[in-house]
Amino acid sequence: MSYRNIDHGFTPLNQKIDQTIECVLQVAEQLFEDKIKHETEFNDDVKQELKEIMEKIIDCKHQLSLQNVVLNSCIDQLEADEENSDQQANSIEVLDKYHDFDKIFDEKFQQSIQSNTIDYNNHDGYRKLLRWFEDDDRNKSQQSNVDNGDIEMMESEEFSIPIDPICRTEINIPIRNKQCGHLYDKESLFNLFRNNSTIKCPVTGCSNKKMTATDVEEDSRLRILIENARQNQ
Ligand SMILES: [Zn+2]
Repeated sequence: MSYRNIDHGFTPLNQKIDQTIECVLQVAEQLFEDKIKHETEFNDDVKQELKEIMEKIIDCKHQLSLQNVVLNSCIDQLEADEENSDQQANSIEVLDKYHDFDKIFDEKFQQSIQSNTIDYNNHDGYRKLLRWFEDDDRNKSQQSNVDNGDIEMMESEEFSIPIDPICRTEINIPIRNKQCGHLYDKESLFNLFRNNSTIKCPVTGCSNKKMTATDVEEDSRLRILIENARQNQ
C-alpha cells in the first residue's frame, strides 16, 4: 500500500495561497495606479498593512512546504518499516510505533521550522510588493533632504517613455528580462520569439546570449507610468 496520495491535498492549498499573494499584489498595483493617475495618497499605514499580510501568507506557504517535506519523510520511514516487517506479527509493532504518528510528525516539524528560517526578501511576491512602494519612498526621502527650490526642479523632471531596442520606437507594453534587466516592447519581442524559442538579448552589447519566453515578465509599474505619460501628452 502507498500513502503517497496524502500529499495531493497540498497542491490545491498551495494554489490558493499563490492566488492570495496575487490578490495582495493587485491591491498594491491599484493603489500605485491611483497614485500616479489620480494623485491619491499611497498611505504608509496601508503599505505596512499590506506588508504584514504578505508576510503572513508567505509564512503559511513556508510552513506548508515544510509540512510536505516532513510528511514525506515520515511516509518514507513508514513504508521502509512496512517492507522490513514480516507480514503479521511485526505489522502490529509497526502499528504501535505509529500509534502516535502526530507526535512524531510534530517533533520533526518543529525541528524543521527551527532549522529553516524564512527570509521574506528571497520571496518573489514580497520583492514585487516592495517594488510597488519604491518610487513613493524614494520621493519622500529626497523631499525631506532638499530645500524648496530643489523640489520644484524635481517635480518638473519628466518621465520619458523608454525605447524598444528591437523596433526603436516607444514601448507600449514593457517586458523586462529577469536575467539582464533589459526592457522590450511586448509585441516586438514576441515577434522575435515566433521564429526562435531561444534568442539572444536584442540589446546591443548585452552579454545575455540565451533567453526564452520564460525569462521575461511584464513590468506593470512601468506600464502604468507609460499609460499615464501618454494620457498627459
Ligand atoms: Zn540584455
